[in-house]
Amino acid sequence: MHEFNAEVEALAQEVLEYSLIRLKTDPPLDGPKTPEELYALAGNTITPEGLGGPAAMELFKEVLAKACISTDHPRYLAFIPSAPSEYANLFDLVVGASALYGGSWLEGAGAVFAENQALRWISDLAGLPQSAGGVFVQGGTIGNLSALVAARSHFREQRSGVTKWVVAASAEAHSSIKSAASVMDIDVLLIEPDEHGSLQGSKCGEVIDQYHAANPTHQVFALVATAGTTNLGIIDHLSSVGDAAHDRGIWFHVDGAYGLAGLCAPQVRPLFVGVEKADSLIVDPHKWLFAPFDACALIYRNPEIGKKAHTQHAAYLDTLEDDGEWNPSDYAIHLTRRARGLPFWFSLAAHGTNEYADAVEATMEMARTAATMIRNHPNLELVAEPQLSVVAFTRIGWNAAQYQQWSDKLLEDQIGFVTPSAHHGQPILRFAIVNPWTKESDLEAILNTL
Ligand SMILES: *Cc1c(COP(=O)(O)O)cnc(C)c1O
Repeated sequence: MHEFNAEVEALAQEVLEYSLIRLKTDPPLDGPKTPEELYALAGNTITPEGLGGPAAMELFKEVLAKACISTDHPRYLAFIPSAPSEYANLFDLVVGASALYGGSWLEGAGAVFAENQALRWISDLAGLPQSAGGVFVQGGTIGNLSALVAARSHFREQRSGVTKWVVAASAEAHSSIKSAASVMDIDVLLIEPDEHGSLQGSKCGEVIDQYHAANPTHQVFALVATAGTTNLGIIDHLSSVGDAAHDRGIWFHVDGAYGLAGLCAPQVRPLFVGVEKADSLIVDPHKWLFAPFDACALIYRNPEIGKKAHTQHAAYLDTLEDDGEWNPSDYAIHLTRRARGLPFWFSLAAHGTNEYADAVEATMEMARTAATMIRNHPNLELVAEPQLSVVAFTRIGWNAAQYQQWSDKLLEDQIGFVTPSAHHGQPILRFAIVNPWTKESDLEAILNTL
């Protein structure tokens, strides 16, 4: 649409300058506005003549960006924050400028090669065989769905007479498992975890056997364990759950979107024993592995199963098929894909894996510090000792509305972003600490308002 003339050059300077400042300085938290407020400030931005680059950029800087919460702010502790490393963010600029196609080896060999090495690192940490492999997809939701679709398609070929396919998971499993089941039109068999919130294999075995006895034409084809629940960071007993699945010929999927990043931290590695039994697993580098949105690593023990389920066939695609080359499109529900694993690869390659281990351990250390501060706070009670880097607690005497009011005010005052959650039907607060820049003083600033 445009040659790279002086006008574009000037805009490039402006864009790069803005990016650099955004990367170098702690941005304000900012916060949402209503559509009406935004319309009053921005008006209709899509016009026949166009605004021109500088005006559109100005609008973004002054209006739109300020209506977006900075998810990498050190006092953004809600949901799971974002904490991309500087290297990962910088390299995202390169990916954006490079028109890389990450769907096929033919078009993106170099990018796919690098992404695959990053996947290999995760796969090796998990103890999967050398033949394991996968792809970076948009997020954990698509990762879980793609893995479950591959599992069902595998079992569909082997078993006839099944009237209902069923996925079994903990009652504490992430909402994306139910969402996947709904998309797949299958049932979910929920299994109660133990009193600590951790799913145990013996219970899984019992519940699944009873279910099959009562429903002879239904088939539980996959059992999902969570390696680090989003709400509390609780890890299911992966080894026994994996055995419960495999003893019954069931696919074992580990949802580690948040928590499996802990695999790189020697301190907590033992909590993940049994992950090596996984038939598939996911982990989101955009959560706790210092990569920008959006990247989920989906890895299959036997990638051929994923490929069989997901490869799209069309006349215009046949040319890509089978020289034994690795086409990332073939391993999930997508075709065109951004090489979204590259910012993560670059950061990992540049920093080295030791720094990753240190950074993950530092955030867990900060979570333990938070737990101590909460324990010593007169108005607060810890829900549980943090296993990973999520710290859950309650404010004594508050109801749900008071939690929400406090949270709204905390953001309004630009102190922090911490949203209420619930545990066993009771409102709680939680700090999710994945940002190595979150310091004790940040926690203090928030806790002082409670
Ligand atoms: C965040 C999360 C997901 C969903 O991942 P998205 O990247 O948000 O789609 C799934 N499972 C768990 C355990 C999560 O923490």
